[in-house]
Amino acid sequence: MADSAGIRIHPSVDSGVRSATQGFSGGELTCRCSSNPVRVRINAQTAHNHVCGCTKCWKPEGAIFSQVAVVSRDAVEVVENGDKLQVVNKDAPIQRYACTACGTHMYGRIENTEHPFYGLDFVHTELSNQEGWAAPEFAAFVSSVIESGVNPDQMPAIRARLRELGLEPYDALSPPLMDAIATHVAKKTGKFNTLNV
Ligand SMILES: [Zn+2]
Ligand SMILES: [Zn+2]
Repeated sequence: MADSAGIRIHPSVDSGVRSATQGFSGGELTCRCSSNPVRVRINAQTAHNHVCGCTKCWKPEGAIFSQVAVVSRDAVEVVENGDKLQVVNKDAPIQRYACTACGTHMYGRIENTEHPFYGLDFVHTELSNQEGWAAPEFAAFVSSVIESGVNPDQMPAIRARLRELGLEPYDALSPPLMDAIATHVAKKTGKFNTLNV
């Protein structure tokens, strides 16, 4: 078993994963600007919260993983200083709206109606002062942290730490989300099958 001592994943989980509050119905995300911060209201609890090792998700300083969840796009509302937001990469499937002053990603939106996750926005609930948000459930794209400069020799310790935290490490998304993507494709190609054969 690899020694996971001293491995830091993300500030929101490093001292243990906090569970959600029942009945929690949303809050407000604020960027890191000390004046005129962008404020985004999330009018619902989030789902599929996870830590992500990909190179595209926004991460706080020093973290090797991001923490990201989804919520219905109808529940996301920019309430203040939205003029500071700009899409990071217009060609990416997820249009990540970042604050042009502090760089914080406030929400990621999918505009392609054919995308399996169309209708869901990606948000980082650590940008909220409220507690009670959905807890992270797994770790996605774990091997990709190597692409951000993590020494490959550290991977056993990183995976051990994720398991200690109850965040099962996957090198893609979790099986239920991968199944959802494949189901979407099967429906489009006429292969969708509900028979147990
Ligand atoms: Zn900002
Ligand atoms: Zn990611």
